[in-house]
Amino acid sequence: MTAPHAFWLAGREATGEDTFDVTNSWDGRLVGTVSVPTEEQVEEAVAAAHAVRDEFAATPAHVRAAALDHVSKRLTERTEEIAQIVSAENGKPIKWARGEVGRAVSVFRFAAEEARRYNAGDAQRLDTDAGGVGRLALTRRVPRGTVLGIAPFNFPLNLSAHKVAPAIAVGAPIILKPAPATPISSLILGELLAETDLPAGSWSVLPVPNDRMPALVKDERLPVISFTGSGPVGWSILDSVPRKHVTLELGGNGAAVVLADWSSEADLDWAAQRIATFSNYQGGQSCISVQRVIADASLYERLLPKVVAAVEAQVTGDPSDPATEVGPLVSEDAAKRVESWVDEAVAAGAKLLAGGKREGATYAPTVLADVPADVTIACEEVFGPVLTITKADDEAAAFAAVNDSPYGLQAGVFTHDLKTAFRAHRALEVGGVVVGDVPSYRADQMPYGGAKQSGVGREGVRYAMDDYTYERVLVMTGL
Ligand code: NAD
Repeated sequence: MTAPHAFWLAGREATGEDTFDVTNSWDGRLVGTVSVPTEEQVEEAVAAAHAVRDEFAATPAHVRAAALDHVSKRLTERTEEIAQIVSAENGKPIKWARGEVGRAVSVFRFAAEEARRYNAGDAQRLDTDAGGVGRLALTRRVPRGTVLGIAPFNFPLNLSAHKVAPAIAVGAPIILKPAPATPISSLILGELLAETDLPAGSWSVLPVPNDRMPALVKDERLPVISFTGSGPVGWSILDSVPRKHVTLELGGNGAAVVLADWSSEADLDWAAQRIATFSNYQGGQSCISVQRVIADASLYERLLPKVVAAVEAQVTGDPSDPATEVGPLVSEDAAKRVESWVDEAVAAGAKLLAGGKREGATYAPTVLADVPADVTIACEEVFGPVLTITKADDEAAAFAAVNDSPYGLQAGVFTHDLKTAFRAHRALEVGGVVVGDVPSYRADQMPYGGAKQSGVGREGVRYAMDDYTYERVLVMTGL
């Protein structure tokens, strides 16, 4: 038996008393055993972060930037090994896992660049009224304190990178809590951080069990919480600590709208291909997956068979096979939940046009049409490889359908018309509108986050840095 993976306590390796297993949802094999920190060890990490916060905030930008560059370089060098781990612990196809490591490389690189140029400060003239004559206001951003970063299972490396890299970039200590299904890639990230000169105590990676998280969330020494995950957990965190600075990156039921002008055969082929790929990408377990397709009535009948054919052509199978596009879901329970939602919709009258079958943790890429508005899959985030397709009479009806959702993360609008693009940008109640493609596009430097129940705050390296800091003004008098 191999030794359990150690966790990272205030920058050094440590083990606790208990362990838990991480298994592969494709074949059930053991991927690794992970050591769980004791309550005393978690306390030690929090106390160390709190104690080092002023020293870390004062660490020169070039030191923090060099550490971030180092992690980026080492992720590049270890890409294949880490991609294999991400694929094994998460069940995601290896080709997507390689892409995820590449994105984490960029996140650390962007953070290094931002660390070098961030916080140059700003000046305000105050002599705009008589009381301000002889005064000048200068600003600088200072870290709020230690960040508690809580990551989900679906992009276990890159979404951990989105918590850690901006914190280092601003000089805020970070305690990273990876998801229980996928902690190993975050522990490897710890190996790379341990190779840097960052002060001891400035970072920890702690796989704390969920039932012990509420106490950690409430700890006063952790003033910033950056959470990515499901709505119920995220909102309960915000409710429990309303005075903390909390950002929530939550779920969505992303819509792709195909408007009347997107109507040539080539247009429809492209839209169908993109929709099929990104409703099934990672088994649909992406917060900006395509869940709802809203097609203009004038092209609906032509688009529908193309979407069904493209979905049926998705290659499902062993995630370690480079040809596989759709692997298993994170667990058999997750696949059973998706199955029950599809079955409910079909029982209520929805038409099943593709898929609808489960084998273990794998759910077949699925297309549903004529879905009644009140079934679960029409209202909630499915987080599985299922899309619903519906028609809209015109642009206004299509945009209203996008907004008819409790969520608002991103939307995709297939149109060639510039004015339509601007109208979509104005009308759609989402954090991002992608024109000419599906909603499933995220570049790691752009502001990313939701409206409505999809969350509060923005990630994207520079935007998370703003969240982790506040502006402190210096008023100079007698000038
Ligand atoms: P989850 O809410 O089950 O878990 C997320 C994290 O919260 C995990 O680390 C988990 O251990 C932790 N957690 C669980 N209970 C907790 C508690 N009481 N207090 C504090 N932390 C607790 O989510 P998941 O299943 O890992 O991820 C899937 C969800 O994440 C989906 O809804 C998806 O849309 C969303 N997501 C959103 C984004 C985004 O950027 N908007 C990105 C990826 C995933």
